[in-house]
Amino acid sequence: MRGLLRKVLGRSRRDGGEELDPELVGPYRSAYLARATDERVREAGQDGGVTTALLTHALEEGLVEAAIVATTGSDPWKPEPTVVTSPEELLEAAGSKYAISPNVSLLEEAVSAHESVALVGTPCQVTAVRKAERYAHGVADVAERVRLLVGIFCSENLEYENLQRLLREELGVDPSRVERMDITAGKFTVVTEDGEERTVPVSRLSRYANEACHFCADLTAEDADVSVGSTGAPDGWNVVLTRTDRGEEILQSAVDAGRLETREVSEGDPKVLERLARDKRERVRDSRCATWRPYHPSGP
Ligand SMILES: Cc1cc2nc3c(=O)[nH]c(=O)nc-3n(C[C@H](O)[C@H](O)[C@H](O)COP(=O)(O)OP(=O)(O)OC[C@H]3O[C@@H](n4cnc5c(N)ncnc54)[C@H](O)[C@@H]3O)c2cc1C
Ligand code: SF4
Repeated sequence: MRGLLRKVLGRSRRDGGEELDPELVGPYRSAYLARATDERVREAGQDGGVTTALLTHALEEGLVEAAIVATTGSDPWKPEPTVVTSPEELLEAAGSKYAISPNVSLLEEAVSAHESVALVGTPCQVTAVRKAERYAHGVADVAERVRLLVGIFCSENLEYENLQRLLREELGVDPSRVERMDITAGKFTVVTEDGEERTVPVSRLSRYANEACHFCADLTAEDADVSVGSTGAPDGWNVVLTRTDRGEEILQSAVDAGRLETREVSEGDPKVLERLARDKRERVRDSRCATWRPYHPSGP
């Protein structure tokens, strides 16, 4: 099955000496620690700003005309899928919003106005685009105009109403007072406008999470061109996995253009990432959900 996937998707997996176990993080070409070299991007970005830097590079190099991202709407921390065409708009959309942002819903609108687009999304959103590409009688013509799929790691996600409840019930904070949110080192942390930091263990998020997330085995966006996360990276850096020729090319070209700096992934904590990826797979296996097995060949 994995061989078939490689044939269909044109992927190869590194032979031996992998920095990360492909059985846990999915097949990949290369793994790096990386961050944006532009300080503005790093400041606006959630971690190392790699996602924003890559999308900026793709726009400026003419690889894509537009990108589908998640900006924040009028409600505090409510993500809003948006089609953007400039680096300034990408900066405004940077940062993680811990609520569902249906980015794929803008695909048709984006390709009706632009020849080529990039899409950033959670692993399930990335998979939805890949599936669309493969079904000739569906929206394959739309999906094939996605020239860059950037997947952000995702342990679970919340409906916006549940994010508000989580903030109020578990952290005792009004969403409008939150300046920053982060999931790191097993904790969900918010920083309020007056600099106060409040945390809860990530395990407290499950009861607020979207039901489907309890049956999701993909932490690292295995279908993306490039996957970007923070688990296993030092503060201010990303773990980045390239998974396709296109993903590897754009990453290398962003490094060559001086937009990204990279380090060996072993300089972070790859075991932490592997553990989280394994936990997510096992959670689904233990739930005895039958639907994921055919799609995730590495499952038990
Ligand atoms: C719900 C959720 C759970 C996550 N869980 C983990 C985790 O367990 N471990 C881990 O390592 N990383 C996790 N991440 C990813 C992490 O928060 C960062 O997005 C990732 O490290 C990329 O960092 P960056 O500095 O490159 O991001 P940036 O340069 O800031 O770019 C982030 C991009 O993501 C888009 N975006 C923001 N929120 C959403 C959303 N809700 N849906 C779709 N797109 C969005 C933004 O528009 C922006 O383009 C999670 C993200 C989300 C949204
Ligand atoms: S946990 Fe899985 S199903 Fe839930 S938002 Fe993340 S990728 Fe999608």
